[in-house]
Amino acid sequence: MARAFYPLEQFAGAPAGFHLLPFRFIRMNGKELLVNEAGEFLFAPPGTVQGLVDERLDTSTDLYRDLKAKHFVYDDSSSPLLDILATKVRTKFDHICGGTKLHIFVVTLRCEHSCDYCQVSRQTATRGEFDMSTSTADRAVAMMMDSPAREVTLEIQGGEPLLAFDVIQYIIPRAKRLAKEKGKNLDIVVCSNLACVTDDILMYFRDEGVKVSTSLDGPAFLHNKNRPRPGHNSYEKAIEGIERCRAILGMESVAALMTTTATSLDYATEIVDEYVRRDFHSIFLRPISPYGFAIKTRHRTGYEMGRFLEFYKKGLAHILDINRSGYRIAEVYTQILLTKMLTPHGTRYVDMQSPAGEAWNVLVYNYDGDVYASDESRMLAEMNDWTFRLGNVHRDTRRTLFTGDSALRMFHASCNQALAGCSDCAFQSYCAADPIYHHSTQGDMYGNRPTSGFCSRNMEVIKHLFSIIEENDRETMRIFWSWITGECVIEEVVECA
Ligand code: SF4
Repeated sequence: MARAFYPLEQFAGAPAGFHLLPFRFIRMNGKELLVNEAGEFLFAPPGTVQGLVDERLDTSTDLYRDLKAKHFVYDDSSSPLLDILATKVRTKFDHICGGTKLHIFVVTLRCEHSCDYCQVSRQTATRGEFDMSTSTADRAVAMMMDSPAREVTLEIQGGEPLLAFDVIQYIIPRAKRLAKEKGKNLDIVVCSNLACVTDDILMYFRDEGVKVSTSLDGPAFLHNKNRPRPGHNSYEKAIEGIERCRAILGMESVAALMTTTATSLDYATEIVDEYVRRDFHSIFLRPISPYGFAIKTRHRTGYEMGRFLEFYKKGLAHILDINRSGYRIAEVYTQILLTKMLTPHGTRYVDMQSPAGEAWNVLVYNYDGDVYASDESRMLAEMNDWTFRLGNVHRDTRRTLFTGDSALRMFHASCNQALAGCSDCAFQSYCAADPIYHHSTQGDMYGNRPTSGFCSRNMEVIKHLFSIIEENDRETMRIFWSWITGECVIEEVVECA
């Protein structure tokens, strides 16, 4: 994209020579796409990178001025620009500062749904021994509030957490009291399928300032197929629950997440239309996670990443058309990537951070006191793989969690800057490492990028977005910027199913 103004130094005479700054590149759409450490990018003519490496680029051209302004090269007049680059890189890595922000409490494994793709390996609704005890809740709240983060989110999930509403009522006042004592700002989100929600529960949430996140997989036929429950009425319950939430908590206090099963793949537009019909202004086209029950049932729910990417592109095109017609709705994964691609900022979305957000930015406190590096790590443990169990609230402190063997092994594989395949990938600044995904799918935390579903998804989605950006259609870019700047209301991304 063309720049409106160049800095003053750009108008000095052509310098005698230049030096390279770190960048990576990829050839696409007949051009070379260069991306620097701060995620700034430039589409350049073929041969530009070779010209840079051979130091024979004409320093009197607009191309040279663009390369300098975007911090791919520097020369004798560049020193103020280098400070700007350092600031941008610091801003990009802001997510590693401040301590763990997202704290997920699994208050019960019980659930009355029996979804094939369930990420939590649920137990039947009557087995109370799978609820979090008060002593475990006390220890988990204390550990959460030990995080140095000033802004903390308590995410309560299950199973179906409303089946353990008494545990929720026990945790919330304790968390609030301790947050106040420690001077922290506390957000609380409950992830529920809403099948058992009542007005009394919602009035409690309203009084305590609790937000709700629920699941909506698409129209009734699809949602009910993906999410079986007694009565075959998961969709009807979810819609009724969403309306009740909005009536009691307010329109913005309920968000919905969908999971893409093999059945969903043929219904991208219908799923998006359902979100519009239900007056949501964001939708997250999420692939199924290769964890928990999704592994046992993958013959029914699973698919190749290529099919998901077709689904994503079709869904995104439809979402853009809907925005062009005047209804504002953002695709959340696109919004996360665009924020990284078009601004100096990172995002709070822990699955797309490097160093990986697991443990640094999210901790999961299981009903039995075990602490995991992420929700996905806990799902692996339900399949008897305890690789990412960091410790237990009854035996460990925050310090021992972060210095134990499990954490240290994971941290080694947490930086895509140092991973084979990623270290020279043009999209490294926008992407992540995800050691848990690669351990789960490839048996190796470091992972093999050429055969990684995580890599192929991100590689293809980022290329697709760059192709759209390169077209520079005025209306499309206006929509993209409305997603980034929040002009379009985007509900908080939380990781419950
Ligand atoms: S996972 Fe793939 S797309 Fe992402 S940085 Fe690594 S090589 Fe690039």
